[in-house]
Amino acid sequence: MRIGSLSKIEEYFKIVFERGRLVSSYIFTGGGDKFRIEEAKFLAKLVNCTGNPKPCGYCSVCQKIDEGIYGDVLFIESEKRISIGTIRYIQKFASLKSFSSPYKVIIINEAQYLTPEAANAFLKILEEPPSHVIFILLTSELRNILPTIISRCQVVRLKIRRSDKEKFLSTRVNLSLDQIRALATLSALKLKESEKIVKSSLWARRKSIFEKQKFIRQLSPKGNEKRKEFSFLLQSVLYFLRDVLIIKLTGDEEKIISQDLKTYIRDYSRHYDEEDLIEKLQLLFEVYSERENINLNVAYNLVGGLLWRR
Ligand SMILES: [Zn+2]
Repeated sequence: MRIGSLSKIEEYFKIVFERGRLVSSYIFTGGGDKFRIEEAKFLAKLVNCTGNPKPCGYCSVCQKIDEGIYGDVLFIESEKRISIGTIRYIQKFASLKSFSSPYKVIIINEAQYLTPEAANAFLKILEEPPSHVIFILLTSELRNILPTIISRCQVVRLKIRRSDKEKFLSTRVNLSLDQIRALATLSALKLKESEKIVKSSLWARRKSIFEKQKFIRQLSPKGNEKRKEFSFLLQSVLYFLRDVLIIKLTGDEEKIISQDLKTYIRDYSRHYDEEDLIEKLQLLFEVYSERENINLNVAYNLVGGLLWRR
């Protein structure tokens, strides 16, 4: 099994590809679905890219793979069930000569959804894989993949680091480096949600929390989506106070997570002492642990009160 951050795994693939040592079947697990797909595409681009250094990201092959429209890369998206019919289709696809590239790459997302019948048929393909085909199975549940399939694949376990998230987000959202760092650290956030947050008004609201007068205007909780928003805003407040405390204790601004809120953090730290901050953090953590059940009107008032209480 290979375990590593995205950059480590990519380096590893580059080396084994250069040495002609790629195997024909991989299983990617861990790291969240977006990164698994991203890494599968990376491998598909690496082996088929016509640019230099590979994968260049710019040649028409790389671009088509990114868009999911490249003829020699098959992406199977499962709807909680991958049937034997799909495996037959894969078999046919694998047996045909590739259109234009050295390798055909077949990516099966959430491969734990292979039906037992499909898994057995797939196993037969893996036992005698065509030489020009690379199979990449992606799964969030390795334990639900047939052991006989696992034994025929190299398992790659992705470990996502903050730098991986930052790199990924910087290609998706138009934010400064400081903002991307802060966003990537709001660690409970999934990438998909991070993108959504930036594209919604929530990202701007995060900043206005720390302007006392504006915070009051943010109180409009309604419906289900609002609870998620509250959760995000509360998390932002917790990170903010954590940063304020760090400044109080160490004076080291490099250690601030929400670098984009530095002026507010500095200002806030002038008005509260360490004991105040620790007390606020403790109370807010309690609110955070109740965030799924608490009445949102009460919660917003509580957080606002705590944040601005002297
Ligand atoms: Zn390329």
